Amino acid sequence: MGMRCPKCGHENPSETLFCEECDWRLDQMYRPEKKRNPFMFAVLSLVIGAAAAASYFASGVAALLLGIVGLLLGSYSINIPRYLNPDNKTLCIALAGVGTILSVIGFILGFATVAGAF
Ligand SMILES: [Zn+2]
Repeated sequence: MGMRCPKCGHENPSETLFCEECDWRLDQMYRPEKKRNPFMFAVLSLVIGAAAAASYFASGVAALLLGIVGLLLGSYSINIPRYLNPDNKTLCIALAGVGTILSVIGFILGFATVAGAF
């Protein structure tokens, strides 16, 4: 009985430590990298942030709700590139940061409108 490589599935002799096929250490678990796109999240939080700030002119409630969504998404989008470390890390953090600020503006404006309405 050999050692099946957890990464590529190659059957190796049991005394080997590294896979003959792909050099993976056979006593280590292989976890495929989760494919998440930090840039996509950054752009999305920017869009929602802009929508939150802009919708203030149409509806305070919409700005408030979009602001909350944008805040949650923005803080998530700022953190993803920090540990995934993509090539466009700075751009991702900047876009998500602007999106978060716009969400805060939408949230505050929306909150002021809704609170003032009562
Ligand atoms: Zn292998």
